[in-house]
Amino acid sequence: MAKVPASKVPALADFRRIVVKVGSSLLVDSGAGGLREAWLTSLVEDIARLHGEKRDVLVVSSGAIALGRAVLRLPKGPLRLEDSQAAAAVGQIALARTWAEVLSRHGITAGQVLVTLGDTEERRRYLNARSTIAKLLEWRAVPVINENDTVATNEIRYGDNDRLAARVATMASADLLVLLSDIDGLYDAPPGTHADAKLIPIVERITPEIEAMAGAAGSELSRGGMQTKIEAGKIATASGTHMVIASGHIAHPLRAIADGAACTWFLTPANPVTARKRWIAGSLEPRGVLTIDTGAIAALKRGSSLLPAGVIRVEGQFTRGDAVIIRGPDGAEAGRGLVAFDVEDAEKIKGKSSSDILLILGADSRSAMIHRDDLVVR
Ligand code: GLU
Repeated sequence: MAKVPASKVPALADFRRIVVKVGSSLLVDSGAGGLREAWLTSLVEDIARLHGEKRDVLVVSSGAIALGRAVLRLPKGPLRLEDSQAAAAVGQIALARTWAEVLSRHGITAGQVLVTLGDTEERRRYLNARSTIAKLLEWRAVPVINENDTVATNEIRYGDNDRLAARVATMASADLLVLLSDIDGLYDAPPGTHADAKLIPIVERITPEIEAMAGAAGSELSRGGMQTKIEAGKIATASGTHMVIASGHIAHPLRAIADGAACTWFLTPANPVTARKRWIAGSLEPRGVLTIDTGAIAALKRGSSLLPAGVIRVEGQFTRGDAVIIRGPDGAEAGRGLVAFDVEDAEKIKGKSSSDILLILGADSRSAMIHRDDLVVR
C-alpha cells in the first residue's frame, strides 16, 4: 500500500456539519447489558465542544435493540424480527432519554428522529425528514437519529446504522460522517487472524481492491461489519461527504481523531453543496417550468430563495420536490431547482405575497417556492 502524504489527512476543524454514528457495542455493555455511561459522557464532552465551536452535530445512535434486550432480560442469541422490533420499542425510550440527559448536562437540546428506509428513498418523505433535521440544527439542537426499528420489516429496513448514517449525512448535506466502531479502521487483511495486517489511513477511491479488504467481520451486538461501512463510504463520498472510521473503544473518541489517532479516512472528491447542486442541475428530469420576473432574477443572483411573489407563470405537471426549470420573462433559462409545492398550489400562490399565501394555503405552509439550498442559478 503506497504511503499517503500526511497533508492529505483532513483535520476535524475543517468540517462544519458532522454526523457521528455510534454503534450498539460501544453504548451497551455486552456482558452486563447496561449503558457504558463513562464512555458516553466522554463522547458527549467531545460533541459539546464541536457544538460550542458553532459546528452542527448530528448523532446516529444504535442501541435500541441491545438496550431493550437488557431491560427485558431476553436470553442471548439471535432474535426473530418481531422480537427485535418489540425489544427496540422498549430500548429506544431508554436510548433517547439517555442522549437527552447527557447532552442536557452541556446545555444542549436533543431531538429524536426515527426514520425508515422509505424516508430516505422516497422524495417527498426525504424532503420532510430533511426539513425537520434542518430546523433542529437551526435551533442548535442535536438530532439523535435511529432507524424506526419497531415498524421496519425486513424488506423496508436498513438493518444497519452504517448505511443509515451515510444517508442521513447526505440528506443533511453534512461534510463529515464519523463511524465510531469497535475497530479503528480498515485493514488490508483481517487483523484478528493476520498479525501483520496494516491499517489503511486514507482511501481516496473505493476500488474493488478496497472492497475485497472489507471481509465480513462483525460483533455480536452490531449488525454492521466492515462491508456495510464500505457501503456507507460509497454513499457518503458520492455525495460530497468525507467519512472516517475510528475506534470508539477509547475515551474521547472524537478528540482522539483530532489528535491524530489511527483511523481510516474515505475522501470525497466533491464538496456536499457542489455535489447536491450538480445533482439538481444535471441528474434530475425537470417536470415543469416557472417563469419569473426580473426582480426575482436579481434576487436569485444575490443568493436568495425564489419567493412566490416573483413567479409569473407556472407550467408542467410536478409535485413537491420535483426539479423545475426557472426562466426569465424573456424565456431564457435562469436556473433550476426543487420546487416546494405541488403544481396546483404553485398555481394558486404565484405572484402572491407571503401574507396572501397564509390565507390561501394556511399557516403551516412554506414561504419559499424554491429554497435557496435547492436552487442552482445560471
Ligand atoms: N437500529 C438498531 C438499534 O438501534 C441497530 C442497527 C445497527 O446495529 O447498526 O438497535
